[in-house]
Amino acid sequence: MREPIRWVQTNLRQTDASLDPSRLVSQLADMKANVLLQGMGGIVAYYPTKVEFHYPSPDLPPGRDMFGDVLRQAHAHHIRVVGRFDFSKTQKAVFDAHPEWFFRQANGQPVIYNGLYSTCINGGYYRVQAMKILTEALEKYDVDGLFFNMFGNQSRDYSGRPVGLCHCDVCKRLYREQFHKEIPDTPDDDYRRFMFRSSREVAAAIGALIRARRPQAGYFNYIQESTDGIMSESNTAIDRPLPLWPYSASDNVNRARNSEPGKMAVNLNMQFVDFWWRFATVPRQEIALRSWQNLAHGGALTFEVNGTLDLQDRQALEEAKPIFQWAAANQQYYVGESSAARVLLLGAPAGTGRTYDQNSYRGMFRLLSEEHVPFAVSDNLDWMGKRSFDVVIATDWAPAALRSYAEAGGKVLIASAVPPEFDVAPVERTERDIKGYIRVRDHAAFPSLRDTDLLLLNGPFTTVKSSAVPTLTLIPPSMIGPPEFIHIDMHDTDTPALVSASIGKGTVIWIPWNLGALYYRLSLPAHAGLFRDLFDRLDPARQIRTDAHPLIEMSLMHQGSRTLLHLINLTGHSETGYFPPVPMQAIHIRIAGDFHSAKTVRSPGTLPLEAASGYTAFTIPKLEDYELVVLN
Ligand SMILES: [Zn+2]
Repeated sequence: MREPIRWVQTNLRQTDASLDPSRLVSQLADMKANVLLQGMGGIVAYYPTKVEFHYPSPDLPPGRDMFGDVLRQAHAHHIRVVGRFDFSKTQKAVFDAHPEWFFRQANGQPVIYNGLYSTCINGGYYRVQAMKILTEALEKYDVDGLFFNMFGNQSRDYSGRPVGLCHCDVCKRLYREQFHKEIPDTPDDDYRRFMFRSSREVAAAIGALIRARRPQAGYFNYIQESTDGIMSESNTAIDRPLPLWPYSASDNVNRARNSEPGKMAVNLNMQFVDFWWRFATVPRQEIALRSWQNLAHGGALTFEVNGTLDLQDRQALEEAKPIFQWAAANQQYYVGESSAARVLLLGAPAGTGRTYDQNSYRGMFRLLSEEHVPFAVSDNLDWMGKRSFDVVIATDWAPAALRSYAEAGGKVLIASAVPPEFDVAPVERTERDIKGYIRVRDHAAFPSLRDTDLLLLNGPFTTVKSSAVPTLTLIPPSMIGPPEFIHIDMHDTDTPALVSASIGKGTVIWIPWNLGALYYRLSLPAHAGLFRDLFDRLDPARQIRTDAHPLIEMSLMHQGSRTLLHLINLTGHSETGYFPPVPMQAIHIRIAGDFHSAKTVRSPGTLPLEAASGYTAFTIPKLEDYELVVLN
């Protein structure tokens, strides 16, 4: 949290145990990385180990200690080393000696993948043996941190084959004790709670061990509890539904930094396309985009490869390297940042076991970004009321806590057919899938919809009662064919498609349909216009006013007494491609507040300022991939 982080992960193979430590460290030093995450132990050890059931790589040359050599040389170059462990699988010899430590499918069979046997998070390998392995590692090496992969029983193997839930004796007994029933065939809410609890117990035990043996070392895995950092990945997989999510790194880092502000966000920038093609890299501009997004939201700069840095496709590395070098040269700006955003977008309902509509969330994320509204994402409701916001936005999930927030004077925008967990308007019913329209009844209320009387409506819709004269109303489905009959039976209703309520000193606007999900899928300007007009009603004094292109992403951050405005050019993204961004010129910006100086860092320059009724105005002469404006 006190130093800028430039983090490289080498996902070493067992054959890399013979790598040349000085070559790897000189490559990292040349790149200006200051953290190396590399394989240490678990499935194979990269150092001589004396612990039973822990095996050095067969490719570790006799008498060599590759991990120790890398650690020593990295430290000599002021590069921190985080050791990677994976306890989710191990060798047959361990299974033969302790079959009770292992994952059992419903039919009693173990899970075997490329000769390795899957362990169970509740078994003795994780609970006892792993602690012995880690104790040796922590006593032997002055590591700066430990990272754990695959924490918790996976229900699919790397090839995507479903293996179901673990039915080992320990799981069966614990599940019966805790839930008074048998383990289900597919995970339900109770089973998810069981796995959550199981993985958190092991996470806490490992955390306690690390803190006792190496109090200065960081603790990382993909779990938020007990750890020192919030890990996530920006990655791809070929069977994911389109569209791609070009805001992946912003989403992960914004959410992590604003959900757990006391922890650093380490969003790994994964170079490969999918598990089957770990040596093929994603487009190099995708690597660049994620890098700038990691930095712009106050996270660590990261880069991940499989194997060593001697790659068979070097495009991603060659893209990342100059960005790391540039970030090192300007590192005073990439530490101690916190969000200056005055708008909060609620993320996932963390820890509730409830699923949520990601499309609604992502559509709202895009709307805010394209409107250049700085916003913080948080999953953590403990935030409410502790940091002030001008507007809180909920998509899909509007928790009861928003009521007291509104009562105290807060402004809330809800865009979801799911009724809020507090009374905004009397709810009659929710239709699951409607193919109708929304009628604009009052054009004066929606200046962006001057040329639009009808908005497309698809998906769920909740009918509410309201005594106010509605400004937007529902048009139910009508005939769609043949063309001679199109909508000739269309009829208007008085059913409101928007309700507004005063709660205490505050205001709640509820759009009882999934505006965000529609925008995510269709990108219709009418939906964006509706959002813009409603947002302006709630927050007429925006933090940023600009003529920037919608695909210029901006983040506004505090850093000590400075304010930092980051601009990222997303115009290179189209369909499944990431190309060099289209350069932009003369971006006019007004930022709320009085600033006496502004300078650009990526294209070094000083910007003339003009004070304009509570705002400071300036022009950014040009934007290529990224720009940082430092305001004092
Ligand atoms: Zn089990």
